[in-house]
Amino acid sequence: MSTLLEPGQIEAAASAPPFLHLPPATLFDVRAARLEQLAEGHVLGDYLRLVARLCRIQQQLLAQPPSELPVAEERQRLCLSHGLPPLAADSLVREGPWLAWLQALLERFDDAPTGPPGQALEQLRQSDESQRKGWGIALLGGQYDAVPAALVPFIGAALQAAWSHWLLSLPGPELKPTGSLAQCPACGAPAMAGVVRNRGRHNGLRYLACSLCACEWHVVRVKCVYCESSKDLRYTNLQDDRHAAGKAPLRAECCPGCDSYLKQCYLENDSAAEPLADDLASLALDMRLDEEGFHRLAPNLMLAPGGG
Ligand code: FE
Ligand code: FE
Repeated sequence: MSTLLEPGQIEAAASAPPFLHLPPATLFDVRAARLEQLAEGHVLGDYLRLVARLCRIQQQLLAQPPSELPVAEERQRLCLSHGLPPLAADSLVREGPWLAWLQALLERFDDAPTGPPGQALEQLRQSDESQRKGWGIALLGGQYDAVPAALVPFIGAALQAAWSHWLLSLPGPELKPTGSLAQCPACGAPAMAGVVRNRGRHNGLRYLACSLCACEWHVVRVKCVYCESSKDLRYTNLQDDRHAAGKAPLRAECCPGCDSYLKQCYLENDSAAEPLADDLASLALDMRLDEEGFHRLAPNLMLAPGGG
């Protein structure tokens, strides 16, 4: 027989959700604009504006990349053919090609802010490469007690900018799911949050946003991304006068099976919602869920948990 598809197969192929949703080349400007919007009248306004400023610098770095793809094309092809993340965070953070991005970020942050962010900048400027690399390895390894809290957003911003640039430089990435729903197929880092998209062929689908490279990959809705249970999941959000009940732009999917949760943005409720920005602006929800005994497994590289 020929290899022609049966009619049912054609429909299945046509309706299969696209596995990837790549970020736009302007992702850091989009993020900065959302942070600036959320900072208005917010109790964490100064902090959100500092992160917005870092995002603007991240966008400048994307326009003038301090270093190119760290892996030879051959190695990337090999990773892809074996189903491994081509931009593996655990090995690349040790090889150190991202350190040029941290240096460039420090140079672009010219007028020093006051208070802890200013002190953090000074400490980073005086550190040497091995110290910087050690902090980066600890941050991506989730060892927050090994990184001074005030340094986290600066190091996190440099790491994100480098990995997003490398992601957007991958030649037509054909990425495959990893063994874990919550792991990025491009770099292997954990998801930061989910996004339920509202447009085009991604409409109504849930994607998880990578904490490091900002790649988004499809995961079916109403399923715990950590233990894969769909039983008794609960959705909870902050009470907010600006949104009618059931129209919150961000909710946490809480799983009573493994006591963990993942926040997700609903673009149908606010098309300007952005996973990193909306995550940081809803820290009060994390505090409440922590009190209720839920664990957060999703990193946000702009914030040291509990160290703010
Ligand atoms: Fe990633
Ligand atoms: Fe679970």
